[in-house]
Amino acid sequence: MKILVLNCGSSSLKYQLFDMENESVLAKGICEKIGMEGSFNKHEAAGEEVKTVVDLENHSVAVKFVLDALMNEKTGVIKNVSEISAVGHRVVHGGEDLYESVIIDEKVKKLIDQCSDLAPLHNPPNLIGINACEAIMPNTPQVAVFDTAFHHTMPKMAYLYALPYKYYQDYKVRKYGFHGTSHRYVAGRAAEILGKKPEDLKIITCHLGNGASICAVKGGKSVDTSMGFTPLEGLMMGTRSGDLDPAAVLYIMEKENLSPKETGNILNKQSGVLGVAGIGKSDFRDIENAVAEGVVNAGLSLEMFDYRVAKYVGEYAAAMNGVDAIVFTAGIGENSAARRTAICSYLEYLGLKVDGNKNNTRGKEIIFSTDDSAVKAIIIPTNEELVIARDTLELVKK
Ligand code: AMP
Repeated sequence: MKILVLNCGSSSLKYQLFDMENESVLAKGICEKIGMEGSFNKHEAAGEEVKTVVDLENHSVAVKFVLDALMNEKTGVIKNVSEISAVGHRVVHGGEDLYESVIIDEKVKKLIDQCSDLAPLHNPPNLIGINACEAIMPNTPQVAVFDTAFHHTMPKMAYLYALPYKYYQDYKVRKYGFHGTSHRYVAGRAAEILGKKPEDLKIITCHLGNGASICAVKGGKSVDTSMGFTPLEGLMMGTRSGDLDPAAVLYIMEKENLSPKETGNILNKQSGVLGVAGIGKSDFRDIENAVAEGVVNAGLSLEMFDYRVAKYVGEYAAAMNGVDAIVFTAGIGENSAARRTAICSYLEYLGLKVDGNKNNTRGKEIIFSTDDSAVKAIIIPTNEELVIARDTLELVKK
């Protein structure tokens, strides 16, 4: 059975076609700059990548282009669109009502639309992708897999903010958490790697990419996570501030006469390591290079990043009354030995001991703590697309 996984962003469309017989990826790619000048597609199949500059005026055109790339003589891996048994969509926000993967119908689409208010940059393009597929493949089942769903198991004391309760009742203002598909995947893999049942483990998963979040996974379930009502809360990130005193925001707004929109832009797009390092870049490789060149604030931004990750790990070890394993994933977590070393140096009190040689690994699964370490530290490359494909298969098989 072949399953197409789609991840529609505001101007991009990422895709992977899986053969679920052996969970192999037959083809994958990305359409970028959809609706803008210079739009293009990068398509990879059988180890070969083809870049095509093509006018992709909207997501429907991009979906059509992708299906053609999957079928055409040169880059194709299927002959007919009917070979695709189902489509799995990444949907960012499921709100309180959509808390597990579901087959998409009119009611589900309406609920996704209602959540657009909570995720205005993400849910609308997700829905456009769903509608585009529906128009082209009306008889192919489609499944939605939500970034928020894994965190549905958080207890109320963890997801509520200490605001007047009516704001939760009236506007559903609460912590939702994101990156759920990634946290779920790596926590599950960690249990497999450790040869234990998820129910018997307390795991802290650190998804450290351009967006970054941490999750406390107890008995296989998310019990707390660092992102909140939006992905702005929690860790310091590439361009997002993460936690700060809300009064500081109000103060800056008054001083600089800023609108809520302008302030949101500063907190989401101009803060984090970008804002502190001051080199006009947010990629950790650039920041680490700037440190080597002696840029003082670049070093400071990384110290702040590491410190904040370590503090959250401590918080979640307390929340779960212990921790068996700490997982590092996503671009920084999988690739930066320097960041893992710095973060883990704060965690010796937990009995964590790092094996320097094993930590010198990039992008592959490895337990990098020593054999006698009380807490295991593990690198696990995330695979959100595979989770989406598996959930889709599970639901369409029923
Ligand atoms: P992601 O959002 O998961 O794709 O992660 C992207 C981020 O990972 C990039 O912005 C980089 O900051 C970071 N990254 C990728 N490779 C490395 C590396 N070798 N060393 C440090 N950071 C890296």
